[in-house]
Amino acid sequence: MAEHRVFLASRNRKKIEEMERILREHAPDVVVVGLDDVPAYDEPVEDQPSFEGNALLKARAGLAATGLPSLADDSGLCVDALNGMPGVLSARWAGQPGAADKDDLNNRLLLAQLADVPDARRSAHFECAVAFARPGPDGTAAEIVVHGRMSGRVIREPRGEGGFGYDVLFVADEHQHPERTSAELTPREKDAISHRGRALREIAPLVAATFR
Ligand code: IMP
Repeated sequence: MAEHRVFLASRNRKKIEEMERILREHAPDVVVVGLDDVPAYDEPVEDQPSFEGNALLKARAGLAATGLPSLADDSGLCVDALNGMPGVLSARWAGQPGAADKDDLNNRLLLAQLADVPDARRSAHFECAVAFARPGPDGTAAEIVVHGRMSGRVIREPRGEGGFGYDVLFVADEHQHPERTSAELTPREKDAISHRGRALREIAPLVAATFR
């Protein structure tokens, strides 16, 4: 059987392996390659106001540069009391995108901004958009975007060692351990309810269908 190569615009090995694992449930011959597996190209600046817009930018650039069917994701935390912020600015909320302790700085800023917000108004959700761009008829790109969401609330003190980003401050509404932050869930428990897990599981059969 010929292998089908799909490009994922990411350097994160864990994301690449996760995508490959989920895709193989639908298309066993899929191989997912990442940014470090292809010649370097000018990666787009993520300047769009929506997760969908940024995911599409990255997937289109991936297709243009590699010629391979291309996937890209964009995600972040949307806090109701902050009118949906940090949203697309989640990674650089405290303004230190390259800093080794950027997660810590982002979390401290978030806690400071919510200091006076009572528990009943600390609702938030993680959102993820995954875009898929592949060569379409007449040289155009055919595109699909899916969304995943994980609802919950922001607590007052960080807890947990797992996960990344804002996981230490986020308790999801929907899991078996109602007081655990997403940093206290196992990767498998988090994947089952997370915004990214949901979006990846939704797009996988659609990507696989394009190989048939
Ligand atoms: P990216 O789209 O994976 O680059 O994530 C953007 C930013 O959103 C990250 O740097 C985190 O700050 C935040 N974020 C996205 N997904 C998660 C998650 O599952 N847990 C915690 N933080 C997340």
